[in-house]
Amino acid sequence: MIICPLCFNKTSFTLVDGPDSRAYRECNKCRLIFTETRYLLSAKSEKKRYLTHKNGIKYKGYVDFLNQAIEPALPLLNNAMQGLDFGCGPTPTLSVILEQKGFKCDNYDPLFYPEIHEKEYDFVFATECFEHFFFPAIEIQRIKKHLKPGGLLIIMTETWKSTEAFANWYYARDCTHVSFFHNQTFCYIAEQFGFDAMESNNDRVMLLQKKEGEIEVN
Ligand SMILES: [Zn+2]
Repeated sequence: MIICPLCFNKTSFTLVDGPDSRAYRECNKCRLIFTETRYLLSAKSEKKRYLTHKNGIKYKGYVDFLNQAIEPALPLLNNAMQGLDFGCGPTPTLSVILEQKGFKCDNYDPLFYPEIHEKEYDFVFATECFEHFFFPAIEIQRIKKHLKPGGLLIIMTETWKSTEAFANWYYARDCTHVSFFHNQTFCYIAEQFGFDAMESNNDRVMLLQKKEGEIEVN
């Protein structure tokens, strides 16, 4: 049975042509495009691929890339706040950039930094990780649990624009990319998970603020 890994819709999908041999479906409820579970890689294969990425503070291109997510968030942050880099990868970099600017930021990554403090943060960055989520609903709930009411979630992921363009989209050629979000998918996420969407002025950066008065039930 096919089930949308974000909104759990079980009945209404459109098959979408992708740029590789994987089968893709667009969920007609939340507009997530996702691959079938049989295409999901093992943790071992994923880890191997991530270790080939040249990331780190010494790579200017990568630092500039991450700054796209940091810049729109900066006016909303202050040095008393504590943050988390969710999905930091093998070489934490965003937290280093933030520390250089005077902000405290912990690291979490399911494969490389699996310990997560049981606390609520003022802000959470999730840069280039939403597209790797096997089950976005579970991960978003998890992120939300680690955010204070009024806390900021900064997401960076490239959004899909049209199914025609998806058929040749470079972003879907990476076999570790399995969930693809439309702008409307983020409207669904904001509404469903209790966030207010804010303007970021960058097409691949989404700023979501957890609503005040949202109480977590474990
Ligand atoms: Zn859905």
